[in-house]
Amino acid sequence: MTNNNNKITLHVGIDDTDSREGMCTTYIICILLRKFKKLNYKIEGYPHLIRLNPFARYKTRGNGALSFTIKLNNREEVNEIEQIVLETVEENADFNGENTNPGVVFYEGEITDDMIQYSQDAIYNILTIDYAQKFANKINARIHKFKKGRGIIGSIAAISCPLPDKTFELLAYRLPKNYKTERRLNEESVRLMNKETYPDTFDNVDGKYTAIEPHTPCPVLYGIRGNNPDIVQKAHDIVESYEEIEDYTIFKTNQHTDMHIQENIDIRNMKQYCCYKFDAEIIENPRTIEGGHIFITVSDKTGSIECAAYEPTKEFRNKVKQLRIGDKLTIYGGIGDKNTLNIEKFKLNKLASDYKLTNPVCCGKHMKSKGKGQGYKCYICGKKITSDKKNKIILERFITEGFYEVPTSARRHLSKPISRMLN
Ligand code: ATP
Repeated sequence: MTNNNNKITLHVGIDDTDSREGMCTTYIICILLRKFKKLNYKIEGYPHLIRLNPFARYKTRGNGALSFTIKLNNREEVNEIEQIVLETVEENADFNGENTNPGVVFYEGEITDDMIQYSQDAIYNILTIDYAQKFANKINARIHKFKKGRGIIGSIAAISCPLPDKTFELLAYRLPKNYKTERRLNEESVRLMNKETYPDTFDNVDGKYTAIEPHTPCPVLYGIRGNNPDIVQKAHDIVESYEEIEDYTIFKTNQHTDMHIQENIDIRNMKQYCCYKFDAEIIENPRTIEGGHIFITVSDKTGSIECAAYEPTKEFRNKVKQLRIGDKLTIYGGIGDKNTLNIEKFKLNKLASDYKLTNPVCCGKHMKSKGKGQGYKCYICGKKITSDKKNKIILERFITEGFYEVPTSARRHLSKPISRMLN
């Protein structure tokens, strides 16, 4: 398909080129942009980094898929770009990874409503390679599968995903000789960057922990996330690194937009591996299990569900521990392997009064129960009461109404930070 200027609009999607041992699909985009520059090709705007369903089984880390759009003059240019993309994926993908199954998709023309629906589906649900392949045929996309080619699922979604809300991430890459060595950033400069650019950048630091730095053997030295390209560029200019930066690329993303969250679904209709925002009331007080995981049970008018704040959510668990039966919440989270909903954040809308029931007091001590229906007896003066009625003692609450979220280190890529919600 051509546009008014007779240019061909080519969309390119790439996914699943990395493994836990190395590589990152964003870095393949960085390499491609360098190659294009040398040949005087320029992509439209920024490349897209699209995070898909956080529960996808074969993800390496954050289930990210990549795409970019390029306008070309003729079929020779289309062929040249496609060849460069395929060669670059072949040369750089980590084919040794057991679950590395790259997929590349080329699509020409406008993004259709069906494609937008597909991308939403890949964020909300779990899709199969077969479904993606049939969808690609339907939209006349050209697909290239390496090994099992599972990456085509994400590649089509990355091409198709609209970004009504968006953020940007600047990813700085290491020299290959430094891979698998300790990353060396000037931590003071990261704190200064945070001071100068937060809340327009976010997730930079988490207490003493430098959150912009990954802890995996991938080519990324650091990633700075923010609301616009200028602020992530400014932040990058402030950060100092003791190791040389090979290159960097700014991506437009759906990170931190809550695009994975489905609304207006009753508890009764919630499904495993999907993420929701819903109103509910606590029906069982928090309980802690071995390993430091905290569970609460909540219900709406259609059913109940167990919700968890797992150990990696650290101090967030102290907030969850303060919830009590009757508290009314809006909960954001996703249903994982054990059919338990992992809480990403919650808004405490209405605090219930918390109380405990105690035996009546006589002679400064609690009276002794004489058994069901028998009332109480003071074991000091011998006084008897015939009623079983207990005293209601109102307890102080140690949490106030408002928003609470997991710390940066435990936040999903797609989760919108409260700092973005309040802006
Ligand atoms: P990184 O974030 O480090 O780049 P990753 O976590 O994105 O890695 P991938 O290597 O991209 O992981 O693997 C994820 C795989 O899951 C890809 O093959 C992708 O096509 C597939 N996938 C993405 N979304 C879904 C989905 N909704 N259902 C099923 N498979 C999916």
